[in-house]
Amino acid sequence: MFDATSVSPRAVTRLWTRPGSPVNCYLAGMPQRTCIGCRTVDDQAALRRLVRRGDVVVDGTKPRAPGRGAYVHAGCLGLAVRRRAVTRAFGAGAELDPSLSAELERVAE
Ligand SMILES: [Zn+2]
Repeated sequence: MFDATSVSPRAVTRLWTRPGSPVNCYLAGMPQRTCIGCRTVDDQAALRRLVRRGDVVVDGTKPRAPGRGAYVHAGCLGLAVRRRAVTRAFGAGAELDPSLSAELERVAE
């Protein structure tokens, strides 16, 4: 069982202020977004921004595309598709740009 008295405050501080920790990034003022694939919160800079253009979902990371966006790790795109997270985020009829899937798969390797 977890015993709070056995963990020193210093250890907790170390745990929560290590690089990549949500609290650390929050304190550093880095924007956080949830990946629609793995549902993990990460730095916005580590995620790709997806934007719906008509019925096609494209990469709107750079330049930042206006409109409703969703964030996903390059390697989580397949997971997002399997979980129907893309449809959930952008509505029925939204199709992922095939070239985008190919590109993100390449990036993730
Ligand atoms: Zn992810």
